[in-house]
Amino acid sequence: MIDSYFRTFRSTQADPQIRLVAFDSGAAFRVQPLIPADALARLLRKINKEKPRAIGILADLNDQNYSAADLKTFVSSIDSSIPVFLGYLNEMELSRSAPEAFGDRLVYAPGLISRDSFNYGADSVTRRVMVQIDHVPTFYSRLATFLRGSTPESIDTLGTSRHAYIRWQGPPGTYPIHSAWSLLSPAPPDLHLENSVVIIGQVRRNQPTRDAVFTPYSRRIGDTTALEAAAHGLVTLVRDDGLRRPPTWAVVLLTVIVGLLTANLVALLTPMRGVAFLVAILAALWISGWIALKWGGWWLDLAHPAITAIAAYYIIVPFRLGLEYRRRWHFQQMSEMMEQLEALKSNFLSLVSHDLKTPIARIQGNAELLMRETLLDPKAAKSLAQIVATTEHMSDYVETILDLNRVESGKVQIHPESRDLNATIQEVAEEKSAQASEKAITLITHLEPLFSVRYDVRLMKRVFGNLVENAIKYSPENTEITISSREEGGYVLIEVKDQGFGIAPEDKEKVFGKFYRSEAMAQTGIKGTGLGLFLVKYFVELHKGGVRLESELGKGSCFQVSLPV
Ligand code: ADP
Repeated sequence: MIDSYFRTFRSTQADPQIRLVAFDSGAAFRVQPLIPADALARLLRKINKEKPRAIGILADLNDQNYSAADLKTFVSSIDSSIPVFLGYLNEMELSRSAPEAFGDRLVYAPGLISRDSFNYGADSVTRRVMVQIDHVPTFYSRLATFLRGSTPESIDTLGTSRHAYIRWQGPPGTYPIHSAWSLLSPAPPDLHLENSVVIIGQVRRNQPTRDAVFTPYSRRIGDTTALEAAAHGLVTLVRDDGLRRPPTWAVVLLTVIVGLLTANLVALLTPMRGVAFLVAILAALWISGWIALKWGGWWLDLAHPAITAIAAYYIIVPFRLGLEYRRRWHFQQMSEMMEQLEALKSNFLSLVSHDLKTPIARIQGNAELLMRETLLDPKAAKSLAQIVATTEHMSDYVETILDLNRVESGKVQIHPESRDLNATIQEVAEEKSAQASEKAITLITHLEPLFSVRYDVRLMKRVFGNLVENAIKYSPENTEITISSREEGGYVLIEVKDQGFGIAPEDKEKVFGKFYRSEAMAQTGIKGTGLGLFLVKYFVELHKGGVRLESELGKGSCFQVSLPV
């Protein structure tokens, strides 16, 4: 993250006062294990003439590698008005004191370049500039403190060392390196070093692991010299703009919040939304990391919250699956139980209804026989007529229950025959005429000749029977019911129109529902099951037809059945 940030934004500019000079392998491939003392002395004298602000040297210039005479030559070239900082690169030097020859002519401090070999990326990338190593202030912090006049503050501690996170000023090459050899040549380039900070080092082609580093920009050996990394680190300290890292407690808090949020939401949301949330939270972490870096200079530790979010997701998902499985199992059990109950109910209904059918028919038959064949006094005749009417009602009721049972168990079979629909309507009208005349209702039929239609006679008789019976039931006395039939646009249309109580607009859809009875009608005491129209619609739709209802409260209703020709 931090590396891609540097590659994407070049957040700061190079510091023009920093100038790098290296004893490099050069075109002639001059590889020297150490900087020759006399060449260094000559270089220093040359640079001194240009009056730089300070000189830094990164080299293992000590009494182990150089003779006392060499060191003397070097020290003698120092101009006391220009401060010299000597950074040693060998860790062994930490425990030793500065060579005596240096006296107080220069600052001798560790100049080791950090490489993340076991912290952070553990990828040998240079991300930090050391400020203190084992409590010893480094070359970088001494030089930076001198240049800025105070000690830098954006410093982090790790064990006995202190460091700052380098804010890279650009990709490799941001600080060009001038060859010391060409400066020492008879025709040296004019570098204008006045007031600048000259850092002298070594770039040996045969020592890439020592003289080169990996940076967030490049992990190609030799792309960035250690000398240049030193410049970036030094400038970070001088500007005191090292990246800041949040305290551990803040990272822990963020990690806990992200973990709990992910766990909770993944448990509550649907699986697809859970995945979307996880992706969103990872994206949000990423984006907030960039914003914090760009505008606050904060290097947030996002790996922990991100890993926690992913871990929480993978822990919760199986847990949730388990719960869901249990819930589904429960539902399955319930639905199996409901199915058994349904089967039981339907068996019971059909048994009872079938068993009732025969005795009712027998009672009805006998009552009719008695009425026809015996001379009865008017009272007995009236009772018998009532018995006949009631048994008719009962058998109708049983038939309705049986039909519903067939509908619900999906066992309604239609046996279409090519018949004259008008004849069936006429039959129904005749059957219901007695019932109508009881309320002094006139049944009028307007039947136009029709093409023969294929339909199930029993079911259609139940359809029209129901509609006519409803018309009679829900009409006051002395009214008319008109049953008409006609053909129109490939359909046979049959209408049953009454001058009854009508149906309220809000009930128009509901009356076709199972067991629905409108409040007002139920209160009038007119008996019914609320199944008639449900079956009417079902049977008509079995014939691929439709039922329409037009009605106005207090004026009457008109049910229109359409059947395809
Ligand atoms: P039931 O007549 O047994 O109550 P239906 O399903 O046949 O059941 O009818 C449902 C409801 O529709 C009735 O309760 C009644 O309120 C209303 N309804 C049906 N037909 C008519 C009609 N012709 N006039 C007025 N209301 C009707």
